[in-house]
Order: sequence, then structure tokens, then C-alpha cells
Amino acid sequence: MVVMRKKIWPRTAGDLASMVFVLTIVPLIYWFGLWVVLPEFYKDESLQYTLHFVLGTFIMLNIVGNYTYTVLCDTSTVRNVMSIGTAKPENGWWLCVACETLSPPRSWHCHTCDICILKRNHHCIFAGYCIGFYNHRYFIMFLWYLFLGAAYAFCYGSFFVWSRVPFEFSTVLRMVFPLVIFFFGIDMSIDQFYLVLYVVSFVGTLYAGVLCIYHFNLIFRGVVSNESNKNNYMYNMGWKDNIKDVFGERWYLTWLLPYVKSQLPHDGTSWCNMCLKND
Ligand SMILES: [Zn+2]
Ligand SMILES: [Zn+2]
Repeated sequence: MVVMRKKIWPRTAGDLASMVFVLTIVPLIYWFGLWVVLPEFYKDESLQYTLHFVLGTFIMLNIVGNYTYTVLCDTSTVRNVMSIGTAKPENGWWLCVACETLSPPRSWHCHTCDICILKRNHHCIFAGYCIGFYNHRYFIMFLWYLFLGAAYAFCYGSFFVWSRVPFEFSTVLRMVFPLVIFFFGIDMSIDQFYLVLYVVSFVGTLYAGVLCIYHFNLIFRGVVSNESNKNNYMYNMGWKDNIKDVFGERWYLTWLLPYVKSQLPHDGTSWCNMCLKND
């Protein structure tokens, strides 16, 4: 069950800037891909046009939906405090000085969010919130579709851009340093704007791709970012259960849309059964 956060406004200027960047650039790339590039390739009513349009929109829906869930879904320890009967130090609970309360094993205090996060992975500046037990699934799916969308836009964008813009030194300069145009006034046409979006899609593909590899690797090993460099295999239950721990019982359906329900195996606080099992 998704418990909604009450205050979602980012707490630092860096978080705010990153959120604004994502919320601006994603719709722009979507527009560029389906309204600028696609009509250059296929006629309006052709089958290919419709297929690409549906696929692009499906990717966009998943990016926006999963992003929204990542931001809205409360994964702090506060939501669970009432239901806890096992909150004892011998069960791995620890005293968080900032929150002045006992926090469950695998939770960590985030100084930006100013709260303890269940099974905390990391603080995501693009969501302005931490990634933890309850929103991990949405974050990973957001990342995955961000990669797909950026790669899609980059592939088709390549044919599109290089058919309009000459491949020469000044073009490369404008791609690497988009601000160059303001100093030299080389070219203020719409092509310059397309070029910027094309470069963003390229950087986005690399960035999201590397993050996908990193995060999927952590999930398969059953660890979170905070635990990854400690050779910590305490919570590794085999790849299938590790996946269920993030994506829930119906993990094989979660790629469809964020609205697909998939019950997580427990409440994100009871990890001690596992450490006993693995001891
Ligand atoms: Zn805390
Ligand atoms: Zn945080």
C-alpha cells in the first residue's frame, strides 16, 4: 500500500534545481521525439507512425508515473512506528540521535530529508527525496524507462539531426558547448535547439544506463548503496527473493505501469529473521 507524503517540496536548492531540470527536459525530449523527429520519418496515418507514437507514449507514461510515485511514496520509518512490537536493540534496532527514537535495522538517517528512511538506498536529488524500501521499485522503473526513452530519442535523433546539420567542427563545438552560440552568434535557428536536445538525449542514455547497471547489480546481490562496499551478504536471499524484496510478489508485472499492484514481502522493519538464518 502506498502511503502518501505530506510535504514533497524539495529541501535544498540543489534538489529543487535537479527536479526542475527533470520535469522540463523529459517533456521536451518527448515532444522532440514524437512531434519533431517522428513525422520526418513516417506519414501521419501509417502503421509505423502509430506504433512509434504508442511506444514513445508508453515509455513517457512510465517515466512520469514512476517518478510521481517515487516522490509521493512515504518510505520513512515514521509510518511504521505504530505497528512495531519488535523495536528492541537486540533485534538490530538502533537509536537515531536526530530523530530521538529507535530505528529499525537497515534504516539510515538522511540529513537532507531530516528523517530515518526504511532500507535506505540513497538520497535522490532528482526526486528531492530518499530512495528506500517502499519507493525503490518506482525509482528503478523510472530509471529504466528514462534509459529506454533517452536511447530511443538518441537513435532516431541521430538520423534526424545529421540529415539537417552538417557534420563539421563548428557543429561539434556547438554540441559540446551549447553556450558558444551566445558568444559568437553562430546560429540561433531551431536546429541549434534540436542539437541541444539531441546532446541531452545522448548524455541521458549514458547516465541512466550506467545507473541502471549499478542499481540492478545491487538488487541482484540483495544490498543497498550504503551496504555495497562492506562485503555485506547478510541480507542476500538469492536473486529471486532479492528481486521480490524490491519489486514485490508480482515483480514480473511491475514493468507495465506503476499502478500495477505488487505486495512487498514484509514491512521493511523485520530483517532480523534473515540475519539469524544467515548467521
Ligand atoms: Zn533518524
Ligand atoms: Zn533524503
